[in-house]
Amino acid sequence: MIKVTVYNEYVHETEDEAVAAVYPKGIHGCIADFLGANEDITVKTVTLETVGEITDELLFDTDVLIWWGHMAHHRVPDEIAERVYNHVMRGMGFVALHSAHFSKPFTRLMGTTCSLCWREGDRERVWNIMPSHPIAQGIGHYFEIPEEEMYGERFDIPTPDELIFLGWFKGGEVFRSGCCWNKGLGRVFYFQPGHESNPTFFIPEVQRIITNAVRWAKPLYRLPEIECPHTPSPEENL
Ligand code: ZN
Repeated sequence: MIKVTVYNEYVHETEDEAVAAVYPKGIHGCIADFLGANEDITVKTVTLETVGEITDELLFDTDVLIWWGHMAHHRVPDEIAERVYNHVMRGMGFVALHSAHFSKPFTRLMGTTCSLCWREGDRERVWNIMPSHPIAQGIGHYFEIPEEEMYGERFDIPTPDELIFLGWFKGGEVFRSGCCWNKGLGRVFYFQPGHESNPTFFIPEVQRIITNAVRWAKPLYRLPEIECPHTPSPEENL
């Protein structure tokens, strides 16, 4: 089984009726529903209110951590972001969705500002530019999102190890919408669609991509501790 933990700050849905109407169970509830429908995936959810549950114990028991946050990034304690970073270095998978580009764990992992330009209420066409990649399986040449927030370049990220999706917006902008990195022993995927007031996480292609990303990011090996050991030579006749 792949053990997934979904963090969603769960603030927009509790403060804005229009967002609650789109995601009555919260964004985390929607993601947990479609991921949990797979026989090989089990899902836990955490919100800002319960963010203290993101302990070493939980992260050791998490293969892939999914992160959605927007207006409350600053309310996530620094030590939790550092804890997430350390577990990715040791092999845990991390999937950052949409406005998680500015989340503390993601910016820590990237080491750059992760800034971009944005505008609400655009139409997006997501181009599959690496159809041979595990995350692109089941996705056609492109798919459309009728309404999504425009995220435009320049996206201040380190050059991705693999670029899977390229977003084009009706307003003319383009964006590196699906990016993969190896960070330490962990795998990191950033996926741009997922604005809170649009039903993006109900779109079959989006669900398929996030499901594929979970299977791709699942660790094959995890280091129990970050270490830098003094070590004897394996040569007998040094
Ligand atoms: Zn947004």
